[in-house]
Amino acid sequence: MADKKWQEFGYPARLEERLPDDVVRCHLSPRNCRIRPGQHGFCMVRANRDGRLVSLNYGRSVHATEETIETEAVFHYEPGARILSMGNIGCMLNCDYCHNWKTSQARYVEDKDVFYYTPQEVVDIAKRHDIGVISWTYNDPVVWHEFVVETAALAKEAGIVNLYKSAFFISEKAIDELIPVIDIFSISIKSIDPKYYRKITKGWLEPVLDGTEQVYRAGKHVEVSTLMVTDLSDNEKTAHDIGAFVLDRLGPEVPTHYVRFHPDYKMTDTIRTPVDRLEAARQVGLGMGLRHVYLGNVYDTDSTSTRCHNCQELQITRYGLNAEILAVSADGTCTKCGADANIRRIPGGSTRPATVPALPASGSFDTATFDWYGDVRALHVQVRNDSADVRRVYHRRTHLGAKEAPWAVLELQPQESYRFIAAKSELDERGVAVAIPPGCTSSLHQVFDRAHFPTTAADSGSLNADVTPLPLFETRG
Ligand code: SF4
Repeated sequence: MADKKWQEFGYPARLEERLPDDVVRCHLSPRNCRIRPGQHGFCMVRANRDGRLVSLNYGRSVHATEETIETEAVFHYEPGARILSMGNIGCMLNCDYCHNWKTSQARYVEDKDVFYYTPQEVVDIAKRHDIGVISWTYNDPVVWHEFVVETAALAKEAGIVNLYKSAFFISEKAIDELIPVIDIFSISIKSIDPKYYRKITKGWLEPVLDGTEQVYRAGKHVEVSTLMVTDLSDNEKTAHDIGAFVLDRLGPEVPTHYVRFHPDYKMTDTIRTPVDRLEAARQVGLGMGLRHVYLGNVYDTDSTSTRCHNCQELQITRYGLNAEILAVSADGTCTKCGADANIRRIPGGSTRPATVPALPASGSFDTATFDWYGDVRALHVQVRNDSADVRRVYHRRTHLGAKEAPWAVLELQPQESYRFIAAKSELDERGVAVAIPPGCTSSLHQVFDRAHFPTTAADSGSLNADVTPLPLFETRG
């Protein structure tokens, strides 16, 4: 039996209702679980200890990870921005196709996968690495409510933007607590079909739609994404119904993403979403009057780029999880026609790591390399400095031709562990190289589709124990 010490500590929970006989009710998600002493709620990370509601996952996390804002299906807020992604344990839903089931379903989480953070430590990591956005993501931030609210408030005081990526099955009262501290909501609406929600997610639809409208009306930056599941929701009716919701209850400027699915968790007897169905869905959305409709988890298509809704100027190009701003001014308008590009900018833009043209001649390094293959076009690189001194790790993209990219510099404090994403950024790219100095160690983790947190290292024997089946197959045609 794997160790589960992470469950032992209970942090006082918000949104508690005390009932007779030491029973409590949790009002964090619409389930409103009624929990008897010694029991836990549906999410398995909120429990009744001695008649009080507690959070079992406060400060318990997967490894903090530097990514880009595009990994969160956010295309209209400082494109290309570096973010610090924070995921946790548990979920208020149990979707049959969950891409992060190893962490969202608490029964699978073992102590070896859990990292411990305080709110101040999270903010300090972001500041130390000059990252302007913290993203609450992966499994789902709803069930991490206390830690998110407290940390996001600290981050906001430090001038850091907070992004909330969620399936948003959450109560109105909990949203009221998020609104003062969260700037961006990237909301995954699975379908507009109530039966789909009950059957596939084990939740229900109405609170998701109401909550999305609530944050939009509060003036927050909102983007909507829908996973188009093969033969289930990858049809034009889904695209139309999602588009109608965005147009009726939000606004035409809200970016809408139709996202490619891969088989996973309990839904393995199927195939990836055929790209032509995604392209057809996008045309439905554009035809209805949505200004910005994108495809997700799809490469080599113009359907991930941004064009001005007024003059059609190409404003932003994207390749995978990378973005390049071409024609958007610092105030979020089109540089060609001056129209509002519906893009929010961070004053001063997004920082980039320092680079050097070559590794220091005086240093000795172990070099780890990884080549992109099949649908694996992103990698989490985890590095740790076990020495007593500051160390510098270097990393860069490798290419199929003679092109030599500069080395990005990552400075690690003594005993610091850091994780960052490297994602394929152009067609002729071969992969990634990481140069590790003495006293440091590294592990590589293959990322399959965005917002996926892999728990298994690439060299540990199994390709990806948390992605099933192996991700090399394509569509049936
Ligand atoms: S967060 Fe939702 S699922 Fe978890 S205990 Fe509270 S009401 Fe139940």
